[in-house]
Amino acid sequence: EEKSLICAGCGARIQTEDPSSSGYVPSSALKRNVIICQRCFRLKHYNEVQDIDLDNTDFTDKLHELGKRNALIVKVVDLFDFEGSWISGFHRYIGENDVILLANKVDLLPKSTNKNKLKNWIYRTAKEHGLYVKDILFMSAEKNIGVVEAAQAMDAYRNGKDVYVTGCTNVGKSTFINKLIQEFDGDEEQLITTSHFPGTTLDTIDLPLDDGSRLYDTPGIMNNKQMAHYVTKQDLKQLLPVKEIKPRIFQLNSQQTLFVAGFLRVDFLRGDPNSFVAYFANNLHIHRTKQEKAEQLYSNHAGEMLSPPSKETLERMPAFVKHSFKIKKEKTDIVISGFGWISVIEPGAEVEVYAPEGVGVSLREAVI
Ligand code: GDP
Repeated sequence: EEKSLICAGCGARIQTEDPSSSGYVPSSALKRNVIICQRCFRLKHYNEVQDIDLDNTDFTDKLHELGKRNALIVKVVDLFDFEGSWISGFHRYIGENDVILLANKVDLLPKSTNKNKLKNWIYRTAKEHGLYVKDILFMSAEKNIGVVEAAQAMDAYRNGKDVYVTGCTNVGKSTFINKLIQEFDGDEEQLITTSHFPGTTLDTIDLPLDDGSRLYDTPGIMNNKQMAHYVTKQDLKQLLPVKEIKPRIFQLNSQQTLFVAGFLRVDFLRGDPNSFVAYFANNLHIHRTKQEKAEQLYSNHAGEMLSPPSKETLERMPAFVKHSFKIKKEKTDIVISGFGWISVIEPGAEVEVYAPEGVGVSLREAVI
């Protein structure tokens, strides 16, 4: 009888035949206790992405399973990388089930962030993705802010049903589940079982809730839009904020350019002098220059003065793509998914933003 094994990282069915499709491991690796597919292994240890079709049926089967259950769906999203937190077509997978969002990493946002405006933006964006959410809760799984409230909301919205926790990789789903486990801990009756169910569609750690229902942790879902897949661990450490972002204000004239390290270029093309407020990891250097010099500066100094990216990352980083905006309303944020955002204070500015291909760049009403 053939055993069916599942990758502990992404949930793909393990196979040893075809290196170019999902769930591949060399047969020698089958002896390990915890099996993760080669793709997840590389991602984890080398930060390398293998080109494998993620829309494989294994994977969508798993998501479809959610729609067949009568359950509350809890989707963890990264506030800092909202676009990268999105699963394409997610609303089609979950059927009629209610969804609540846990908006994680709130600790990174400046204290002065207007939570209501932020919430509105999240609702609106979710709706654009076809998803109507019941509620949005802010939390920091890592700093243990709002975790208990999130658990209470989950309990209130589930109406006695099972709960499925889903999310893309890197949004902080494991951190959250671990915090939940700590909450459950100490009560003998509520001991956590960590179990894999080979051959079933959702392999899980599963937490008993007090009325006999269960909480399932679905495998993290890879999202190729996340920059984490393209940069080295070293670079990523510098790029991502680790604590509350401090705004940096620049008074710019038109024809000036800002480089945020070597990852982002912002040209202020036309408009009256204006304030640009940058919200990025505090240690990232922001370099101001004349627009006419920007091209040369980048080609001479990317990977050196303009870093991260390191030279190494630069070689495999997707090329810059230009996004053009006309800022129509006062206080508009240009959001660079996964990196941060820039607030343009006065209306009327024409701005061009260069970001690596695949990185989401969009506008929203300022949240500060
Ligand atoms: P998963 O792939 O969704 O399970 O994500 P992890 O739980 O492994 O977390 C991904 C990364 O985000 C890790 O580097 C965590 O330390 C970090 N992280 C998780 N939760 C938070 C949070 O609330 N705030 C911040 N700043 N970082 C977090």
